[in-house]
Amino acid sequence: MATQLEIARDGTISDEVRSVAKVENVDAALVRDELAGGRLVIPANKRHLTSGLVPVGIGRVLTTKVNANIGTSSVRSSVDAELEKMQAALDAGADAVMDLSTGGDLDTTREALLARCPVPFGTVPIYQVIENRGVEDIDAGIILETIEKQAEQGVDFFTIHAGVLSEHLALLENRVAGIVSRGGALLAKWMLHHNRQNPLYEMFDDLCDILAAYDVCFSLGDGLRPGAIADATDAAQIAELRTLGDLTARAQEKGCQVMVEGPGHVPFDQIQHNIEIEQEICSGAPFYVLGPLVTDIAPGYDHITSAIGGTVAAFYGASFLCYVTPREHLGLPDAADVRAGVIASKIAAHAADVARGLKGAAERDKRLSIARANLDWKTHLSESLDPQTAERMHSEVCQEINAQKAPADYCSMCGKAWCSVRINREIRKLSSSP
Ligand code: SF4
Repeated sequence: MATQLEIARDGTISDEVRSVAKVENVDAALVRDELAGGRLVIPANKRHLTSGLVPVGIGRVLTTKVNANIGTSSVRSSVDAELEKMQAALDAGADAVMDLSTGGDLDTTREALLARCPVPFGTVPIYQVIENRGVEDIDAGIILETIEKQAEQGVDFFTIHAGVLSEHLALLENRVAGIVSRGGALLAKWMLHHNRQNPLYEMFDDLCDILAAYDVCFSLGDGLRPGAIADATDAAQIAELRTLGDLTARAQEKGCQVMVEGPGHVPFDQIQHNIEIEQEICSGAPFYVLGPLVTDIAPGYDHITSAIGGTVAAFYGASFLCYVTPREHLGLPDAADVRAGVIASKIAAHAADVARGLKGAAERDKRLSIARANLDWKTHLSESLDPQTAERMHSEVCQEINAQKAPADYCSMCGKAWCSVRINREIRKLSSSP
């Protein structure tokens, strides 16, 4: 059973490529060619494809995609709460979902989520590898068994932190925030305890065989991503990225689809450079960025700091934005946090698509602007990125100005006499009358 990458390399247009091209309104041959060149992925586990997955494409010729992380923790774990969060993410427009659960019964939680997930579904298998055992006790057999089990369940993409090497750890000495990736930190501890190389790196060919068998897409994890803007673009981050470049080529050689994960906390002025070096080192493999957060001082508002960074990243070359919720660094997000995070990242992704001139990206903006200029509230609200919030705010205003019965030709922002939109309509009428 060939992977999407192998099918595309053969010159064939698969059903999944055709489906992605139709949704994105682009030529299927373009999607196939980008896929064959390793610059686009369609994370679609063969198992998940038989149980309701609608294929999604991730690459520069397509719209920028948004991922929502959900999942239990050891402090709070409820399958129902995670199902609610996943639904909130999907309702808000998430293009993919990752289950980062570390608490409760991980298999049951994943199974329940996957059964109801129509978009690509990702995990970080190393989290389950250390479930109920010390990090020192893990070995190659446990890792391979866990990864195979999750692949069999239908997971579409795996974060694999194979690029953190023992020789990189010495480069962390001057960091402010050290290793902030959970996977990266666990593997560093294992390497130091056993005085050995990263097991994921050593067994990389075996991992490729499992991922290729189910067509699970690699999301090569950045275990050494900066967790403070002071650590951005440092030697450790770049050393790991170079290893990820080598692993990208090795995995693609074995027929696997590959995305590469990126930082993290990065000042605004360093984002372009970060994107460009990833594109060069990883030969254009889709870049999946975690934010980036452009400042460290906004706990409670990190969906905004990451949306600023996400817009810049997607403008310069990232294809996939991992959302950040307002509760980042403060606690496990609830459904409302998930919703706010997805909306912020959708704004970032769309703003970048408009700015890079992606065909058709600005059409919705134009439809909304025309409706706004015509005081066509119905279209104005329905075309908005978050109609639920826009409609609630508008209906509150309608009650305030007592305009429930007839549609108002102004709102409470400026009031009737000062409403420039209404005045503009009068100007147009006056200038068109003979
Ligand atoms: S009152 Fe002001 S904000 Fe409201 S519709 Fe008119 S111009 Fe726009």
